[in-house]
Amino acid sequence: MPTSPFCRNWLKTITAALWLSAAGLPVAWAQQPDESDDVEDIAEDENVSDIDASEPRRDAPTLQPVAALPAATPDAAVSSADEESTAAKVAPNIDLKDVAPPPELQPEPEPPAQPQRRAPALEREQAPRQQPHPEQPSEPVTMGEEPAAAIEGNEREQAPGTVIPAAEPESEPEPVATSLTLLNSEILPGTATRLAWAPGIQMAGLSQPTPVLVVNGARPGPTLCLTGAIHGDELNGIEIVRRTVYDLDPEELAGRVIGIPIVNLPGFERASRYLPDRRDLNRHFPGNRYGSLADRIAYSLFNKVIRHCDMLVDIHTGSQRRTNLPQLRANMNNPEVAAFTRGFDRMAVVHSSGTVGMLRTAAVAAGITSVTLEAGESLRIQEHQIKAGVNSLNSLMEKQGMISRMFVWGEPEPIYYNSYWIRAEHGGILFSDVELGDRVREGDVLGFVSDPITNARHPIKALANGRIIGMAVDQVVMAGFAAYHIGAVTDVPAQEDEQVED
Ligand SMILES: [Zn+2]
Repeated sequence: MPTSPFCRNWLKTITAALWLSAAGLPVAWAQQPDESDDVEDIAEDENVSDIDASEPRRDAPTLQPVAALPAATPDAAVSSADEESTAAKVAPNIDLKDVAPPPELQPEPEPPAQPQRRAPALEREQAPRQQPHPEQPSEPVTMGEEPAAAIEGNEREQAPGTVIPAAEPESEPEPVATSLTLLNSEILPGTATRLAWAPGIQMAGLSQPTPVLVVNGARPGPTLCLTGAIHGDELNGIEIVRRTVYDLDPEELAGRVIGIPIVNLPGFERASRYLPDRRDLNRHFPGNRYGSLADRIAYSLFNKVIRHCDMLVDIHTGSQRRTNLPQLRANMNNPEVAAFTRGFDRMAVVHSSGTVGMLRTAAVAAGITSVTLEAGESLRIQEHQIKAGVNSLNSLMEKQGMISRMFVWGEPEPIYYNSYWIRAEHGGILFSDVELGDRVREGDVLGFVSDPITNARHPIKALANGRIIGMAVDQVVMAGFAAYHIGAVTDVPAQEDEQVED
């Protein structure tokens, strides 16, 4: 077949990778993300290579051998040996709308010393793969210490061999909501609270815990987790999480919602995408207790919080002054993930199999149904994008049976099984003629790069029909800058294995 834009894009990526490889650059690249020319940064949030490297959509999706949880019930999700098994105290029931004092950490048991057999500077690549949920008899999340007030008669756990004096023979016991033990606190059913998480990487006296908002519904149901600002400069997600969680009434909720508005607090404070060691946290999940700073933070978050989730929505924005139409990134080859995306109202879906180290990739591998939600651009608070995010999270909770609201569904948005980036071929100042969401045809001029020195104007044209699902805002660009993300119109599903195009 003729060389299509997708082929060209693919080849560019491969060529760039080979060049970097030959130049011995990947190490320096991994250790010193440079905000100006880091290959990873030419992408918007999940990056170009993520899209390019996606496996083609299969015609008839089959169940992937996702490392499913041996113990798939949410109550057994804390069987990890790393997770705390006792709650220091019952979390106070508070109205999340109230102004809160700074979060306070619950004391944690001392972590075990690093095993001697491991080299002190264990590289991430050499680290043993994290095994999700080793099969072992696990304590239920509900701890044995609940105050009796929270327990409903016969529902209380009985010691083995205890005979329950049944008043009358019951057919099927109604499932009831249980306590949730998280971050050394116990959250009773029908309550909401604000906990604190800190990855323990700072000097104890300087440790800054980040808030974790928890609503444990009065009725049983799944656990939905929402994470914002894994990249510290991505502000829309912070507000999306805050509004979504604060709007929940624990008495009305079936299931649990755990929201972490600002995961990367150090980055947030510096208005930076990165961690203090200049690593990208979203390339280090599920983390490693003995690894780099990023590995440790990822490990802490993943084991202390994420493993409690049945479903996860990780919220991001475009990077490097790029903006995104509200959209999901999801591995549509995973049937559970594909079904999950149908709960999001008015949200385009971009198929992306994800890369190693991303939170959603690691979570899916641990049996947690996960997508990335992209909304808008970094370093800005955009009301329209925030409303779109909050709306679709509410539709999701309704679809999952967690809330019951009068919800008016919009027209379904398309699923882009294929997408590609158009890059600037010249350096200069980018001026766009199109807007986010515009539909374009092959050959349409999307914008110009104007050279302020020579006065030359270089048009950038669409390489195929599609829709602008992400784009750079007007700015100074260098040749090669990924300027427009086009979700391609595809009538025919993928037949070829070697690339994304179809
Ligand atoms: Zn991001």
